[in-house]
Amino acid sequence: MAHEIGFIGLGNMGTPMVRRLIAAGHRLIVTDVRPETARALEAEGARAVGSAKEVADAAETVMVSLPFPKVVEEVAAAVAEGSRVRRFVDLSTTGSITSQRVAAMLATKGIVHLDSPVSGGIAGAVNGTLAVMVSGPRADYDLIQDALGQIGKLFFIGEKTGIAQTMKLANNLLSATALAATSEAVVMGVKAGIDPAVMIDVINTGSGRNSASQDKFPRSILPRTFDFGFATGLLYKDLKLCMEEAEALGTQMWVGMAVKQMYQLCNNLHGAGSDFTEIVKVPEAWAGVEVGPVPKKG
Ligand code: NAD
Repeated sequence: MAHEIGFIGLGNMGTPMVRRLIAAGHRLIVTDVRPETARALEAEGARAVGSAKEVADAAETVMVSLPFPKVVEEVAAAVAEGSRVRRFVDLSTTGSITSQRVAAMLATKGIVHLDSPVSGGIAGAVNGTLAVMVSGPRADYDLIQDALGQIGKLFFIGEKTGIAQTMKLANNLLSATALAATSEAVVMGVKAGIDPAVMIDVINTGSGRNSASQDKFPRSILPRTFDFGFATGLLYKDLKLCMEEAEALGTQMWVGMAVKQMYQLCNNLHGAGSDFTEIVKVPEAWAGVEVGPVPKKG
């Protein structure tokens, strides 16, 4: 069934998700602090408005895809002032601690909170193949299942607020670790004189294969385009949230702490807006080599 859906945050992930919802026949009311992103979607059938409150005046379901927990809290406060909104669906990676705070604030206004963080990158958002992890009241999940199903494969993690965020942080810890460790391994091989493209082929045929060797290295690191579409600052945020989550739960993160520090260094050296695939530049700088296309001899 077609619904009116509000959508706030039209970045790398939000824009392709909105496009899929429009294509499925939903009526989208959108906004972003960068109004040009909303205007671009107007041409594709969305209605652009000037604020989060206006979105919440127009739609019962408001989805957000925002960069940082603090922004989610600010936008949720504005959404809570809307006259029509009944449920707030957070597609961002926010962490369970912020989710619980936001859910409690929204509950004072009778608004239901659902966590719905996603994994699978821009390609997953464009193709509707994201892993969509949902937590919150089951009845509200059932009402929006059709719409969420347009953006990916649904996993209902549980009714407990924030539990889907914990799932997402566990996933991103693994993704970040695979990329950091593959970067160290390939830099070592390059320093020894092995062609990095050959290394990636061997790793992908052997037991070392992972999401970085299969996707990030061939697509954005070997050609040195560093355009995978996920900012270092956002992944560093996820790793910080993951460490906070582990500490709050009383679990250990020895490897995770080292991985977080490596992304912190990348964030400081190359900027929060750099692509997360630029993590390879950290071990490269230490080793004095570059991972990239090997010039043909002769
Ligand atoms: P992005 O920075 O490309 O997009 C965020 C958007 O939010 C931007 O368009 C920005 O202008 C907008 N925004 C910021 N503050 C706002 C406000 N106060 N009101 C309205 N709009 C505001 O980020 P992204 O890569 O699309 O990621 C969004 C979320 O999804 C993040 O939490 C990220 O961790 C998560 N995520 C990203 C990826 C990825 O591969 N890029 C994958 C999975 C999850």
